[in-house]
Amino acid sequence: MLFKKEKISLIIPCFNEEESIPIFYEEANKVSKKMKGTEFEMIFVNDGSGDKTLDIMRQLSKKDKRVRYISFSRNFGKEAAMYAGLEAVTGDYAAIMDADMQDPPEKLIEMYHLIKEEGYDCVALYTESHEGYNFIRKALTNCWYKLIDKISDSHQVPGARDFRLMTRQMVDAILEMKEYNRYTKGMFGFVGFHTKWLSYNAPDRRAGTSKFNLRKLVKYAMEGVMAFSTTPLLLSAYVGMIFCILAFFAIIFIIVKTLIWGDPTSGWPSMVCIIIFVSGIQLFFLGIIGMYLSKIYLEIKHRPVYIVKETEKTKR
Ligand code: UDP
Ligand code: MG
Repeated sequence: MLFKKEKISLIIPCFNEEESIPIFYEEANKVSKKMKGTEFEMIFVNDGSGDKTLDIMRQLSKKDKRVRYISFSRNFGKEAAMYAGLEAVTGDYAAIMDADMQDPPEKLIEMYHLIKEEGYDCVALYTESHEGYNFIRKALTNCWYKLIDKISDSHQVPGARDFRLMTRQMVDAILEMKEYNRYTKGMFGFVGFHTKWLSYNAPDRRAGTSKFNLRKLVKYAMEGVMAFSTTPLLLSAYVGMIFCILAFFAIIFIIVKTLIWGDPTSGWPSMVCIIIFVSGIQLFFLGIIGMYLSKIYLEIKHRPVYIVKETEKTKR
């Protein structure tokens, strides 16, 4: 009987990564030669890049049949790119990796070994040192992971990266989740399975610059909270309750004070402050409700998560 090689599909979301893709391809190629008994498939997802990213993908897929690509009609974000990649996977295992070499392909050897030999369904990586990130981003990221782990339904590992190798079964489970507002890190936690967490030092990006600016990061952070937690919605109920209790005691205090000392018309500045404060809180919570509402709104529209313009099969 012929020995069938196991296929590992790499999913690489790329947004303006013309300098990184060739480096990544070379490294992944080296690793695939080392991993005897397996074959690689590389699915590059072009997330609406404005540089030569697509051209490079076309050339690579022409040269090497293991290279496939999916090119979006515009920038849909890394979450959409990962989803498109997962949908395209034909392998027995799938790995999500950044193009910038912050997720070193050599790690795949150890990850594959852990799944094969020790029976894990998934091996995921987290980093304790983000060398490429500045102090503020590191500190904020840390705080955010702690907060989200407390308030969300799915366990979040601090410093977790999107880099993970998983079985086909787990890929299918993720694909079963058809939601429009996708927060993959939470989804992996939600589907469960036996996951091994490995720590490593994420190196600095090899070429190009980070594609996540502050605006994108804040949007991503909010996505993470809202996709897996309804705690912010309940918060308004708690704060409202506290304010009712405070108001009750304040009213009693004022009645008693008026009965004892009379009612001189003073104190309007404090009144104005209280009114502004309370209406501020009301607007804040209205905003939170609005954010969830907007997510529901997008969800019921059933819009596609991404739109494909070209793949290696449809290229004219
Ligand atoms: N990326 C993407 N779409 C985006 C932003 C980023 O596909 O809208 C890709 C990017 O090309 C890279 C990966 O996601 O392969 C991680 O991005 P980056 O390295 O810029 O993020 P950072 O490491 O700074 O968090
Ligand atoms: Mg990076």
